Amino acid sequence: MEDFRIGNGYDVHALAEGLPLWLGGVKIESTSGCIAHSDGDVAIHALCDALLGALALGDIGKHFPDTSDEFNGIDSKILLKRTMGLINSMGWKVVNADVTIAMQRPKLAPYILQMRETLATLMEISAERVSVKATTTEKLGFVGRGEGCEVYASVLLGK
Ligand code: MG
Repeated sequence: MEDFRIGNGYDVHALAEGLPLWLGGVKIESTSGCIAHSDGDVAIHALCDALLGALALGDIGKHFPDTSDEFNGIDSKILLKRTMGLINSMGWKVVNADVTIAMQRPKLAPYILQMRETLATLMEISAERVSVKATTTEKLGFVGRGEGCEVYASVLLGK
């Protein structure tokens, strides 16, 4: 590899009682989940934005508009697969990715390895190149009050 690009992504979804919670392609045991047009996988959305941002291709809303019926309730793993297809078609591969999930509850530690493995498979790299970290916000702000989930993602692409 002799050319590299970095990208960062950010996404927030509000939480509501009784909805399923998907993060990093993994179903999480929780009493509340993300309100969304898709399955609400805020971690995959931030990651897609980082991948698109690295190549200045706009954002997830441009590629997968939430006004389109095609994406109603869609599994976000499909969005990541399609984003990867675009990136690969331009000759780029993911070198590594680092994702930070800010959520007050539930505890995400039991799911971290499965999220890393799921995201790595979708990006066709080894799990050792995919970091997923979870933090609370010490009960501060909308995340701390359990009103939403916030995710930051960084990626390095190479070709
Ligand atoms: Mg989103």
